[in-house]
Amino acid sequence: MIFKRKTSGKINKHTNIKHEIKSRRTVLKSLKKTIKKYEQEIISALEKDLGKSKTEALTSEILPIYKDIKSTIYSLPDLIMPEKVSSPILLFSGKAYRYPEPYGHVLIISPWNYPITLSFIPLIGAIAAGNKVTIKPSEISAECAKIIEKIINETQHSNTITVQSGGVKETTHLLESKFDYIFFTGSSSVGKIVMKAAANNLTPVTLELGGKSPCIIDKKVNIKKAARRIAFGKCFNAGQTCIAPDYLLIHKDMKTAFINEFKKVITSFYPKGAINSDDYTKIINKKHFERVIGYLDGSDILYGGTYNKDKLKIEPTLITPTNDDIPVMQEEIFGPILPIIEINDIDEAIGYINYHPKPLALYIFTKKRANSDKIINKTSSGGVSVNNTLAHYLNTNLPFGGVGDSGMGKYHGKETFKLFSNYKAIQYCGKLDIKQMYPPYRIPTFILRKMYNIIS
Ligand code: NAD
Repeated sequence: MIFKRKTSGKINKHTNIKHEIKSRRTVLKSLKKTIKKYEQEIISALEKDLGKSKTEALTSEILPIYKDIKSTIYSLPDLIMPEKVSSPILLFSGKAYRYPEPYGHVLIISPWNYPITLSFIPLIGAIAAGNKVTIKPSEISAECAKIIEKIINETQHSNTITVQSGGVKETTHLLESKFDYIFFTGSSSVGKIVMKAAANNLTPVTLELGGKSPCIIDKKVNIKKAARRIAFGKCFNAGQTCIAPDYLLIHKDMKTAFINEFKKVITSFYPKGAINSDDYTKIINKKHFERVIGYLDGSDILYGGTYNKDKLKIEPTLITPTNDDIPVMQEEIFGPILPIIEINDIDEAIGYINYHPKPLALYIFTKKRANSDKIINKTSSGGVSVNNTLAHYLNTNLPFGGVGDSGMGKYHGKETFKLFSNYKAIQYCGKLDIKQMYPPYRIPTFILRKMYNIIS
């Protein structure tokens, strides 16, 4: 065996990394500046498309974008830098790096429920990672699609970002082209179409899908707080949120108290009634309105149940589903209707959840840490909030995404940069060799086994 000190290469610090940081920051800064310029138009577009209040427009659609651009600009030098990792003796301790490179051309397909933020948050990460991006906003939130296109055109970075507007026909056409990465947010049914199309080109995909996110209320619980937080999670954007609590699994002893508290909370949220409140979003269109009120059929209404066809608004409503096979218990509700199912204990809730597709979000309200731990350990979901709703989404240090039927791939915060980067493995090696490792092979296998354990 020959052992000599080997020379090894290293990532050249004078490569174009500095230039890349600068140019990617320039795009992000001009994006932020243009979004700020059109902030009022974004708020108006959200009002026209969804009847979103200014507060919800700011907190769920606009301010998270500013924050994400700011933190991405700040952490870009860290994220972009090749990360050094150790090398085994077999390689004479050469130098090794995880080197993030952009995938190339990314396609972002976004939905209508949070049309602005779900277009821009993935965009920020994809740009930071050095990709070229095409955004396909939802045609259903048409005013928002227009403003997204206007903003992107005005940033004057058409080499980096383009917008393709349109509906199914245009998206189908786009999906026939070869992209290097597809980031899709939308329904599970369209997610399957996207994944099939991506498979034709062997394009990697992230699927941010939806589904039914359960909410468990244990026997030992602060029911007042639980009712307020569940009502907020369900009423925000009128339940048109991928991680809205879809249905309740409640300990039988807490059901009456919950219904009473829920009524009080809704009255305090919307003193003139939800339907007359400017703080309460409308259902996006007639088709979805009809779909959501259709869920009232075949269920007992415990609270609410009124709606206004002209305003496309449905009152926050509690129902008891007659059985598990009716549409309201089979489909994602995506509206302000909350079915309540009684349980005898948390084991029953765990059994129910595990019998159904893996949810995007799971909510647990309990005073007993052992019970929340048990549920977390025995179920699978994209994310969990304990004693609140939507909370894990708001913490951008946590990866966000689904599992199984609720999606694949995680993003938010630094994860978004990682998602849109191919971590190229780079191993620098010197001149030295173990000649005996080459054919003709002469090392007895028992020595090989011992040696391999030591040097690899
Ligand atoms: P959708 O699947 O109908 O549409 C999403 C996008 O796909 C749109 O841009 C649309 O133009 C396009 N599209 C629609 N039909 C298509 C087809 N046949 N071929 C190709 N493209 C097509 O979803 P939606 O109604 O806009 O949004 C609601 C769904 O999105 C819900 O299921 C919700 O849970 C989910 N969602 C998930 C997240 C998440 O982060 N996981 C966030 C928001 C919404």
